[in-house]
Amino acid sequence: MSELKSPEAKRVPHSDDSHSEGSEDETDWIVTDKEPEPALKADLDAARALFGEGSVRSTQLCPKTYWVRLYVPVKCTALSSTVCTAWSLKLEIPICVDLCLPGTGYDFGVVEPSMLKQIRQEGFDEFGLEKQLMQILTDFCRVCKSCAWESFSSVDNTTMDEDTPEKLCRRFELKKQSLMLQALADKHMGFLCCLGRYLQLRLPTLHEYCAICDSAFSLPPMMMRSVCPRELCTYQFGEFGSKITSAEGMNNHAEVVDLLVCMLLAAATSPRRHLILDPYPNVYLGEQLRVVLHPESKDFGTLETYVHELQSVRKSVGNQLGASWSAKTSSMSAEAAALLKWTVASNRSFLAPLQDNERIEAFRTPFQYLLVSAPPDKEARFQELKKQFGTSFAFHGSSSENWHSILRNGLKNASNTKLMTCGAAHGPGIYLSTASATSLGYTRHEQKVGGDAVALKRQKTGNRFVENQRGLVMMAVCEVIQDPTRLRKPASQIWVAGVEELVCTRFFLVFTEAEHFGMNVCTLKLDKEIRALVEKSRYAG
Ligand SMILES: [Zn+2]
Repeated sequence: MSELKSPEAKRVPHSDDSHSEGSEDETDWIVTDKEPEPALKADLDAARALFGEGSVRSTQLCPKTYWVRLYVPVKCTALSSTVCTAWSLKLEIPICVDLCLPGTGYDFGVVEPSMLKQIRQEGFDEFGLEKQLMQILTDFCRVCKSCAWESFSSVDNTTMDEDTPEKLCRRFELKKQSLMLQALADKHMGFLCCLGRYLQLRLPTLHEYCAICDSAFSLPPMMMRSVCPRELCTYQFGEFGSKITSAEGMNNHAEVVDLLVCMLLAAATSPRRHLILDPYPNVYLGEQLRVVLHPESKDFGTLETYVHELQSVRKSVGNQLGASWSAKTSSMSAEAAALLKWTVASNRSFLAPLQDNERIEAFRTPFQYLLVSAPPDKEARFQELKKQFGTSFAFHGSSSENWHSILRNGLKNASNTKLMTCGAAHGPGIYLSTASATSLGYTRHEQKVGGDAVALKRQKTGNRFVENQRGLVMMAVCEVIQDPTRLRKPASQIWVAGVEELVCTRFFLVFTEAEHFGMNVCTLKLDKEIRALVEKSRYAG
């Protein structure tokens, strides 16, 4: 905070060391604890009344500036513990906003973005929302200062029909405006109350906007936060992706990284890659942001070079290190390492290995993962439908080359799209089966696997590694709303969901070939076991 030193300030000793925060010597420049002018004092008191005793701390930093720390409670019922884990947020810790406010002439709308100093959760170093929240509050200050809100529309039309990218983007822009108006509804309470309210209102919507610049997306939102295609956002995301979007290294679990790379390899080397490698990698290198790979100028030859490099590093290093081969970026070119980072950062579904004691034995594979693709609002809608119709579980199998896209775009009504590989014998929709053997039939696509047996290196969960990634078979266990008008059951054990909102992914299963031959289980018989595991993972702390 050295930029805040002013000639008027004089050094005083710490009055109470228990309040000093680590190495920040913010108390060094106190002149006095004199009460602020009435306008600022009224604002601080109002915030205290709204957010609770102890939610505001203030100190006069120098005659012209008050340092204010506002603790905003994270009160969002829409955020489950899984969402918080995936977003690097702790529900029970208030979000702490530091501001330096003017000691004289304080009023609504005088707060400049530069007066925002820091946003964090105390005692939680992995807090991952700082960049986006800083942008959110910066925009809020600008809007208040310029009175731009006077022209905002309060229409909030959040129905999630299929839409053009432009319409979708516009809808999220309007949603942001409507939330700002909501936060400003009690403008008489003062600026800090409105700022804190806006922060609370925006928390459940973070995944609908860029995790760095907070601009609206033109893609339907998914569970994991993501960035817009602007160069700087994409670059920063690759560099700091784990800090921005994933929690406690969950997404960086070596095994999950390895799985994401296997999916990329399958998609990028598929004869159908022009169709199914969606998104195509968006990779920049160095501070000059040199373009390595870009969706607007797809170059599959270049992509193949780096993909083959990853494949060979995976093969040679993986045998010794297990899935954590991906951490050994020193054995790759800078381009291949950047592609690897992008692969992890661009994942938009939450994937975490189940521990030994959590797995369902009947699935006959040790490779079981929690898979959450639905964002909080979709999950909330799903829970409403569940109360009305009830749910059952079913498998969704798809060729391993399709999962790169599914994890980033969600399970789509793929029968009429590019992801279709097995025909839509029973009309359009998301195909599901209660019998594993049927779903496993959908996981193969003209993929001739050579004589190499798939060798599984037995290692600790989190670092397991399958030697021959071409033999992998993947499917999801989904929870499905039993709405008789929209879920068709055209054949024994086959369900076709007409709309996406009927299906939520819960678990992800990976089989090596040898394993899946012996498996034929029925989800209906495992209902109790699967349901218990879903409940447990939803509320796990
Ligand atoms: Zn952005």
